[in-house]
Amino acid sequence: MSELKHLKEQWKAIFSCMGCGDCGYSIRTAVGRYLTCAVKEAKGEEAFELSFSRGRMNVLRSILEGKIPLSRELAEWIYECSECGNCTEACHMTQNDQIILPTCNWIDHVKVWDALRKDLVEAGFAPLERHHQLIDYMINDSMNNPYGETKETKNQWVNQFPEIKEKGDFVFFGGCTMPLRQLDTLKSMMLILKAAGKDIAFSKDEWCCGSITLRIGDEKPIFEYINHNVEIFKNLGAKTIFTACAGCYRTWKKDYPELLGQQLPFEVKHITEIIVELLRNNQIPFKQIDRKPVKVTYHDPCHLGRHMGLYEIPRELISKIPGVELIEMKRNKKNAWCCGAGGGIKSQFPELAIDISKERIREAMETGAEILTTSCPFCLGNLTDAYETLELEEKEKIKVMDILDLIASKI
Ligand code: SF4
Ligand code: SF4
Repeated sequence: MSELKHLKEQWKAIFSCMGCGDCGYSIRTAVGRYLTCAVKEAKGEEAFELSFSRGRMNVLRSILEGKIPLSRELAEWIYECSECGNCTEACHMTQNDQIILPTCNWIDHVKVWDALRKDLVEAGFAPLERHHQLIDYMINDSMNNPYGETKETKNQWVNQFPEIKEKGDFVFFGGCTMPLRQLDTLKSMMLILKAAGKDIAFSKDEWCCGSITLRIGDEKPIFEYINHNVEIFKNLGAKTIFTACAGCYRTWKKDYPELLGQQLPFEVKHITEIIVELLRNNQIPFKQIDRKPVKVTYHDPCHLGRHMGLYEIPRELISKIPGVELIEMKRNKKNAWCCGAGGGIKSQFPELAIDISKERIREAMETGAEILTTSCPFCLGNLTDAYETLELEEKEKIKVMDILDLIASKI
């Protein structure tokens, strides 16, 4: 049996669960909470205790007590979790600061799930097949990205922008998803920055941020990736690095310093933080808008919102785009419904990811919005895939687009 090293570190959190079930059933309309676990709801009648936090905590308790062993079967269930963190927002043990008992600990659910994933990997029951393949691609020296594409393919976009500098203090981290799967959105970002007169530097030597290894729980390669990327940006002369990917942002800004045990030698920003500054300074030249405002609703990516607390900046940004009216979905900010792509669900359980996203698109439709926008290539990809499965009648009601494409369409 595995030593359960990581789960043992989480024992207080695991034993603090009091089994109330709010992580699965809570509806508190006063605070905008309508249920909690996107996975449990998407599984419908197939869902059972192990599909959401309460059952998982019970099983973890039994594992720590030596009553249940780790297994491949358990891994198949455990990875059906987007690590969205919504259970933490609903949990009494997290939210109620009146509960302070010496034997209890506030529960950071995602930390518990991460610990279990790491122990499953160390015991040889994970990664699952698709996750294995992504990591294999990522650690392949001719790729260093999880999409199985060559470095040359990933860097092709740079040739279209000769103004990009090889050195500078304002450096873009491209990540893997936008250059390989969402080139148009990347071009929109470049158009916005150029229109605002912002010069950027970029290195073709950047590697994947490594976030998939962290989410999957197979952390062996991560330090090589952190050290490589940090060194590259130091050599470029970076004072600020920015990324348009919510996952890369969380990894650079939160995970890298935590894993290194020290702050990075530069500031890390998300593209929405860069653009909001440009908007505040009136640096983006918009076209004259002469039609009535288009109604837009915003989906909070879990990596930006619940994991990093970036709720207001994307909203301020949207509100400052001329000819746009921002309207909220009933579940927003801390209570936002997950798109279903994260935590490795999209690659290993693609149908589940689509089912979760369909629910989010329908929630966006209920607002009357004509556009559902977001600021994460992963959310965008999954929402777009789900959108493609809708009937024409539903598709005609709403469009899905990245914030960057929305802004670029007004320049
Ligand atoms: S992190 Fe999200 S998907 Fe996972 S158990 Fe919690 S609410 Fe469900
Ligand atoms: S809401 Fe928290 S305390 Fe209640 S069952 Fe879920 S994890 Fe346990």
